[in-house]
Amino acid sequence: SKAHVVVVGGGFGGATAAKYLRLLDANIRVTLIEPKVKYITCPGSNWLFAGLSNLDQLTVDYQSLQDRYGVKLLVDRVSSLDAAQRRLRLTGGRSVTYDRLIMSPGIDFRWDAIAGYDQAAAEQFPHAWQAGPQTLLLARQLQAMPDGGVVLIAVPADPYRCPPGPYERASMMAYWLKQHKPRSKILILDAKRSFSKQALFEAGWAKHYGYGTANSLIEWHSLADNPLLELNKQSRVLTSEFGDRFRGNVLNIIPPQTAAQIALQHGLTDSSGWCPVRPLTGESLFDEFIHVIGDAAHYAPIPKSAFAANSEAKACALAVTSLINQKPVVEPHWLNTCYSLIAPEHGVSVAGVYKLDAANTIVPVKGAGGVSVRTDVEAVALEADYTRAVYRSLITDTFG
Ligand code: FAD
Repeated sequence: SKAHVVVVGGGFGGATAAKYLRLLDANIRVTLIEPKVKYITCPGSNWLFAGLSNLDQLTVDYQSLQDRYGVKLLVDRVSSLDAAQRRLRLTGGRSVTYDRLIMSPGIDFRWDAIAGYDQAAAEQFPHAWQAGPQTLLLARQLQAMPDGGVVLIAVPADPYRCPPGPYERASMMAYWLKQHKPRSKILILDAKRSFSKQALFEAGWAKHYGYGTANSLIEWHSLADNPLLELNKQSRVLTSEFGDRFRGNVLNIIPPQTAAQIALQHGLTDSSGWCPVRPLTGESLFDEFIHVIGDAAHYAPIPKSAFAANSEAKACALAVTSLINQKPVVEPHWLNTCYSLIAPEHGVSVAGVYKLDAANTIVPVKGAGGVSVRTDVEAVALEADYTRAVYRSLITDTFG
C-alpha cells in the first residue's frame, strides 16, 4: 500500500510541504489538515494600514493543492496526537493514521507576559499577529484615532514571528497618519536593544517621517532593561518595571510567542516553547516519525518567516520522500528573504543562505545574503517593486 504522509497546518510551511511531496513523488498519499477553508496571509497584512491592500487581496484557498497536485484536504483541526499509534484525532470526530507526519501549526501567544493582557484583552487591544479580524480591528482603531493621538506598538524579544514585521507596521501606519492625522505619533516600545534592518528603517523614517526630530511620526524606545509589565485597560496605559507609564489611544500589543498549542500539548517543545528538530530532515528530537517546520520549529539562525517556512518545507519534503523510498537524504541549503515597505516606493530587504556545518548545526553561508546596499531613490523604488513581486511569487509557489 502507498505511504501516507499527513501534513498539519495549511500555512506557508504546511501548504508548501503538501504540494512538494506530491511533486517529488506522486506515489505518496498526502493529506493536509487545516480548519480554515481560506487562509489570510500575514505577509502583506501591514500594507493594509497604509491603505495599500485589503483582506480579499491577502486571501488564498487550497483549490490548486487539491485539483492540480492531488493533495487530500481535511477541513478540520487536530485535537490530539497518539505518537505511539501514529494516529491523529480530529475535532470533528475522525481519526487519521500516518506513516510520517509533518507539522507546521504556526504560533500561539504567551498570555502571561504582560499582566492584564490576555486573550479577551486582545479583542480591545489587537496584536494583529495572525492576519484576519485582528488586522481589521487595528486598522479601524487607527482610522478612528484623533489627530494628535498616540499609537503604542509593544514588540517582544527574539525569537518571534517575522523579525522586521513590527517596524514595517510602524512605517505603514506612519505613511497613513502623515496624510490623514499628521500631528499623531507612533511609539515603538521594544523589548530588544536593536532590531532587524535597523539602519535601513531609521534612514527611511528620517527621509519620510521626520525621524530624529521633535515632530517625528515614529519614536523607537528600547525597554530591554525595563520591560513592560502591566496593562491598565481602563486608562490604556502600559507600565514598565521602573514605573514608566505609556498612554496610547491605540495599543498594538504583540506578545511573546511559542509554538502552537498542538505542539506544546504533545511534548514536541522544549523549555524555550519551540520545537527542536534535526535540521537535516526536520525530524522532531522527540519523535522520529514527526517532522516540524515553519514558525513552530527551532531552525535558528534562520528567522521565522513565510519565506523560510517555504524553504524548510521543501527541504523536509525532499527528506521525507527519501526516507520513504529508502534513499540517502541530501544535505539541504535553506533560503530566507524578508522584504519590507517603508513607503509605497521605498522597500528594503535582508537575505540569507544557510547550510549545515560539520557538527550538523545550521550556519549562514559566508558572503551570501546581506541587507540592501543602495539607498538612492531608484534603488529603493525597485526594492519596493521587488517586495510586491516576492510576495506574489511566494504565494504562487506555496498555494498555486
Ligand atoms: P502559519 O502560516 O501560521 O500556518 C499555521 C496553520 O496551522 C494555520 O493555518 C492554522 O490554522 C493551522 N493549525 C494550527 N493548529 C492546528 C491544528 N491543531 N490542527 C490543524 N491545523 C492547525 N514572512 C515573510 O516571509 N515575509 C513577510 O513579508 C512577512 N510579513 C509578515 C507580517 C506580519 C504582520 C506577520 C505577523 C508575519 C509576517 N511574516 C512574513 C511571517 C509569516 O506570516 C510566518 O512566518 C508564516 O506564516 C509561518 O508559516 P507557518 O506555516 O509556520 O505558520
